[in-house]
Amino acid sequence: MSSYEENYLNKRPQELCHMCGKCCRVVTTSIPYDKLLELQNNGDKAACDFLGIFVPFKTIEDAKKADCGTVENIIAQLKADNNYNESQITFYTCKHLQDDNKCSIYEKRPTLCRHCPSTPWAIVPPGCGFEGWLFMKREEDKERVRKAKEELLELQVLKNKVNNPDTLNKIKAVEHKIQRTIDMYKKYGSENW
Ligand code: SF4
Ligand code: SF4
Repeated sequence: MSSYEENYLNKRPQELCHMCGKCCRVVTTSIPYDKLLELQNNGDKAACDFLGIFVPFKTIEDAKKADCGTVENIIAQLKADNNYNESQITFYTCKHLQDDNKCSIYEKRPTLCRHCPSTPWAIVPPGCGFEGWLFMKREEDKERVRKAKEELLELQVLKNKVNNPDTLNKIKAVEHKIQRTIDMYKKYGSENW
């Protein structure tokens, strides 16, 4: 089992979801719509799954009519991360969401729905039951990165004391591994944690 499943997915307290359906009514993706279509045409499973259930709103205003608060929350968070490009953003809605906010294919819903919210860094709608828990998980990620940075500093000190080339190479390999952990969170701002 991967650490993603062990450390995150399997620990999500599913009971926090109060089945409001907001994350089905209006969503967006970090990948632009035209790129998603291209991936779908090339048989990419994630793109096929996503476009198999989600249909794009024609305009941002149409998405706002479905759930203004969620759209504005997404835009605000993308702007805060310097990641907002109005010409590239598309909002989608799921064709299986019913008027009573229930999923018409709940038992057969795809993996991407079962994994939602798929990371601590997912933008969830205002009032989502996972908000507090995701905040806590993001803080854990930040703590992990701070610890990694401390380890890098300690290794730097150690490197200055070591002359043996084999030992130096081993230290560099460990440094590389630790740096990869930090870089994994770069898009969330790990450089400033
Ligand atoms: S928005 Fe949050 S609480 Fe509402 S259905 Fe989605 S995951 Fe559950
Ligand atoms: S398939 Fe069901 S759970 Fe998945 S987004 Fe649509 S309504 Fe929500």
